[in-house]
Amino acid sequence: NAQSWEVQKSKSLTTSFEVFPPNDKVGLEQVYNCLDVLSLEKPDYISVTYGAGGNTKGRTVEIADRIKRQNGVEALAHLTCIGAKREEIDRVLENLEKNNIENILALRGDYPIDRELEQGDFNYARELIEHIHEKKGNKFSIGAAYYVEGHKETNDLLDLFYLKEKVNAGVDFLISQIFLDNEFFYSFRDKLEKLQINIPLVAGIMPVTNAKQIKKITELSGCTIPKKFLKILEKYEDNPSALREAGLAYAIEQVVDLVASDINGIHLYTMNRPETAKKIIDATGIIRHE
Ligand code: FAD
Repeated sequence: NAQSWEVQKSKSLTTSFEVFPPNDKVGLEQVYNCLDVLSLEKPDYISVTYGAGGNTKGRTVEIADRIKRQNGVEALAHLTCIGAKREEIDRVLENLEKNNIENILALRGDYPIDRELEQGDFNYARELIEHIHEKKGNKFSIGAAYYVEGHKETNDLLDLFYLKEKVNAGVDFLISQIFLDNEFFYSFRDKLEKLQINIPLVAGIMPVTNAKQIKKITELSGCTIPKKFLKILEKYEDNPSALREAGLAYAIEQVVDLVASDINGIHLYTMNRPETAKKIIDATGIIRHE
């Protein structure tokens, strides 16, 4: 079921960016500016997250549409299913189809910490993937998430078992949660090979350029902070600009190492700011401009 971005299917190196839908007008201008700058880099695609509840959800399709039409770049729309009814998901699918958006990152979503979720029709990403195939056949190219250090709710072995189930439901490629130590990725890739999971593996890379960010990342994902990185954080704790430069250099080194080890794709989390992502592209040369 190859779609328009065959690039990911062919397993050659892809480069992509991720933005999130903001919840106010200023934020919207910021994300549009980010898209205008980053699309000049000619990435393989740009993805838009799906808000964990609340009013930013509807914006995902709107922004994905803009990426495709205004910026001329392939769009990947994230879609989460936790707490959602089938009808709600079907409405989003219709809307994506209407706007010619052919790529979905199918996710479960996180349980909100501040409120109870309504009873939805889905428990896991796998069920959403099955539902999309059931409703729409192979109309969409579907990606899913993976966790090189295991998902926080499940032990490593079970998580691998469920990942295999998820992929078997019809997934074309996988994008990882942020990791700061490439060794986790390499040993995870070996395990997937043994499990005969042979679809492209994209690395989700977040350049960490301030101390607040790292706290949030570890809280959200439980990603291990390598000793080498801790030393940087301690050294430059009181020097934001030096920390920014050191964080950028760290991300560049991480990307270069992954590319040298034949990673299928680099997906940069931009936090709606194009500068750092652009610097990584420039420094690593991962997008070749003719
Ligand atoms: P699943 O694959 O469903 O797995 C969730 C947990 O359930 C795992 O621990 C798994 O092992 C376990 N599990 C799976 N199947 C079963 C089963 N049958 N029985 C028991 N346990 C099972 N969140 C958002 O809200 N919006 C976004 O846009 C967004 N984008 C993301 C992009 C990427 C690249 C990544 C890595 C994450 C993103 N997230 C997003 C966060 C994601 O929603 C959370 O990490 C969530 O906790 C898990 O989602 P999943 O799709 O991996 O879930």
